[in-house]
Amino acid sequence: MDLSRILVVTAHPDDEVIGCGGTLSKAKDKGSTVKVIIFNPGGSSVKEVKDEATGQVIRLTELDRVSSFLGFAHESWALPDVIDRRNVVRRLVGEIRSFKPTVVLTHAPHDRHHLHAAVSSVVTEAVWHATQLYYLDLGAPWTAEALYYFEVWDLFTQPTTLVDITNYIDKKVEAMQLYASQIEAFPYIIDYLKALATVRGLPANVKYAEAFMKSPILQEIL
Ligand SMILES: [Zn+2]
Repeated sequence: MDLSRILVVTAHPDDEVIGCGGTLSKAKDKGSTVKVIIFNPGGSSVKEVKDEATGQVIRLTELDRVSSFLGFAHESWALPDVIDRRNVVRRLVGEIRSFKPTVVLTHAPHDRHHLHAAVSSVVTEAVWHATQLYYLDLGAPWTAEALYYFEVWDLFTQPTTLVDITNYIDKKVEAMQLYASQIEAFPYIIDYLKALATVRGLPANVKYAEAFMKSPILQEIL
């Protein structure tokens, strides 16, 4: 996995920490450039806050803190759903061709949350489209080395890739704690992150790991 330029595309702020926060910290330590695109700030997932706009402000403020803490650039696209699929794919192709990621990380296609699954689908298509002679008004074709899916709510039976995050689990937990509104909404999330990292660590003979599934959308060409 060439982690020198990582593009992460998620549905909500906090998915990047849950899915790949340890890997991002590790990559940053080794000098990587990381950019995170968030589709929907998810204002309704803030306890005690009744209106979406106030909730979004809270979650975007948390995202700012986490992005400074983990050292990634970020953009929020304010897309609560994928309605105009063609335009969303085009926008992602433009992003991929200008950022030129070595790897792209996103949600798993089978994630039970509808927006997680929708994001996975458009990112997968865009990663492939970016390699092709389509949409040339958006820049020259760019082929990332790989697209990987991460785990949020639904786990892989047999992940293709494990990243040792033993030295970065504390940073992952601290980053998650900065999403205070989500700790309130999901009180056991820190236990979940540590337990999952422990489960993923065992097959790799390390204390903590994150699991990924390599997408078949980009074939190796020999
Ligand atoms: Zn999410």
